[in-house]
Parts: sequence; structure tokens; C-alpha cells
Amino acid sequence: MVRHSSRIELSQSSLTNNINFIRKKIGGNARISSVVKANAYGHGTHEFVKMAEKAGVDHFATASAFEAQEVLEAKNGKTRVMVMGILYDEDIDWAIKNDVEFFVFNYDRLEVTLKRAKALGKKAHVHIEVETGANRTGMHASEFPKTLTFLKKNKEHVEFTGLCTHFGGAESFSNQFKINMQHDRYKEFLKQCKKKSFMPQIRHIACSAAALAFKDTVYDMVRIGVAQYGFWPSPDIYYSHLQETGARTSNGALKRLFTWKTDVMDLRSVDEGEFIGYGTSYQATHNMKVAVLPLGYSNGYPRGQSNRGHVLIKGKKAPIVGLINMNLFMVDVSHISDVHVGEEVVLVGRQKSNTINISSFTQITQLINNEMLSRLPSAIPRKIVK
Ligand SMILES: *Cc1c(COP(=O)(O)O)cnc(C)c1O
Repeated sequence: MVRHSSRIELSQSSLTNNINFIRKKIGGNARISSVVKANAYGHGTHEFVKMAEKAGVDHFATASAFEAQEVLEAKNGKTRVMVMGILYDEDIDWAIKNDVEFFVFNYDRLEVTLKRAKALGKKAHVHIEVETGANRTGMHASEFPKTLTFLKKNKEHVEFTGLCTHFGGAESFSNQFKINMQHDRYKEFLKQCKKKSFMPQIRHIACSAAALAFKDTVYDMVRIGVAQYGFWPSPDIYYSHLQETGARTSNGALKRLFTWKTDVMDLRSVDEGEFIGYGTSYQATHNMKVAVLPLGYSNGYPRGQSNRGHVLIKGKKAPIVGLINMNLFMVDVSHISDVHVGEEVVLVGRQKSNTINISSFTQITQLINNEMLSRLPSAIPRKIVK
């Protein structure tokens, strides 16, 4: 097999650390559903599912049936998979056959599901997602009474696996009033279930931010995305954790899993006054030594980093010179002695005593962490390391 132009290493010990921290934070009784949409936030679904299972995770959530299929291919026997978003009518049979749980946010979907479950002679597992104020997906309150009646009547075929909602912006304290309102509305739905003596098996509303900062949003399960990958959802959530613990730092409570590496492809001398790469965006101010790297914006390295930002070589910062090309970019290594072709280059992550965080890209390119991560091509090979 020929080699790819870059590679991503994922740290098992960091993930185990993160999962254990989240478990401690949410208390013993709540289950973690690991959110692995967008190729596990760019980390690589196949590898990430195996790592998370090693850390004790037995429930995964995806945005689409297509993503759930990838989890099915990687997971162990008893691990559950839940589709939170798009599932076409044509794929309901596939979901039922594979015990894939799915969100239902309108009544019509229930009738189709019942028909298919009966035809297959196998139970469907549905989570009713209710509208509480995010106005994205979510069943309107007016459809809920007949939904409960339907589920109670047809429980042999369609299981009321979950009752859930999603907060629109739990990571910002300025949204607190909205989050409280959403939670109150969710409780109204729960009340209706109690009144009908027909409860869901799993109540779940919390994402990372809510699970970490608002204990009362932790019910039977939490849906954890960004935090398991080692990112605090926001400064608000980070500092509320410090306030709670009384410590000055979080002491490695959440650790990044992710190191993105490549190698020096070529080295060249560039004379003072020469231009580097396309156009005239970078002119050598002195006689320079420049390293050529074998990836560019088509490989997920943001073009906005052109003439800004740096990579790490031999633990030292090598500034980007010129434009990020489709498949190449150049860095200045004049100040780093003994660089060879094939030398390891760190694009994101740690090398010796220096670190490049995803957030440094964010500052330069205006991409948010999740956006930058989720755009990393799935073709880049992922490797699990200790
Ligand atoms: C993405 C997503 C989550 C996870 O959110 P994080 O903030 O990354 O923890 C939870 N629930 C739903 C419905 C989502 O779409």
C-alpha cells in the first residue's frame, strides 16, 4: 500500500481519561451516548468507536443512517446505535433489522414504522424528540397526546425507547434563560407520560455543555460529543468547572486525542528577493531555507493559514510562507538546523515541548473547532496510539 500525504494519531489513554472524567461529572447512574456524527468530529468513526468501546462506551449517536452504518461495521455485539437525524422511509427496514434506534419527530413517521415493524415481525426502537424551543427538529406538543396513545397501544411493535430534546446553545451562560425554558417544556412532556402511566425507557436531553455544567439536565443518558474529544464546549463551561472545583486549572480533566502529522517532502534554498509559490504574496526577505510539505487545502489544511500560522519541526515553530496550495505548502526552516527530507512535521498536536491546538486555526481562519475537525478528509489514515 502506498502512503497517504498525512496521518492522524488518536490517543487511547486521553479518550479513556475524558470518558472517566465525564462519568465522574455526571454521576454513576447516567449512561453516555457517544456522539460520532461527522466522522466522529473528524477523528475517524471506525477507529473512534473501537477506542470508545475500550473506555466502556456502549451507546453511539449519529446524524444519519449512513453514519450509523459505519458504526455498525466497527462496533461490538451489544453496543447500541441511535440515529438522531436523517433516516429515509426506504431505510426504516434496515434500522429495524439492525436494532438501530432512531429519533421520531412527527406522528406520520410512527405509522410508517408500525407498518414496517409488523411486516418484519421485529420491534422498532424509537426516541420521541420533542420541540422545546430550538425549533430545529422536534415533535410539536399538539401531536404528543396521540403519540403517547399510539405508542401505548402498539408497544409490542414500536418500543418507546426514549424521550429527548436538544438544547440550542447550552454552552453560553447568556442563553441560560432559553435553556431553562426548554428544560421546563421537556418536564411538561414527561408529566404527560406520567399521567398516562407510560414512561420512556431512557430520558435524555443533555449535550456536553449541559452535562458538564447543569446537573439537573442529566437524566438516564447524556449525549456527549465535543467533550469526549477533549474540548471544553466554551470558556463559560470551562470556568464554571474551575469554580466548582476551586482549582486554578482543570488539571488535564479533558485531553485532546488528536495529532496530525506529515513529513518534509523537499528542502530548498530560496535567495533573498525571490517569491515563494503562487503570485507575489511572499517575497524572501533574506536567503532562506524552505521545507515543502505534501498537503494543502484539499487535504483539510485551511487555506486561511496562508502566510500565517506555523507547523512544528524538531519541536520548533516553522512559519508558513506563501499560499496554501491545493496539495502543497511551504514553511520557513532557516532557523532550524539539521532538517532532512522525511523529517516528521506536526500540523496539530504536540512535538517535544511545543503544541499547536485546533483553536489556533480557529483564531486565524474563523473556522470553529467543530468545523475545522469535521472537514478533515476521511481518507487521511487514522492510527490508534497509547
Ligand atoms: C451534536 C449533538 C449532540 C452533541 O453535542 P456536543 O455539544 O458536541 O456534546 C447532542 N445531541 C444532538 C441532537 C446533537 O445533534
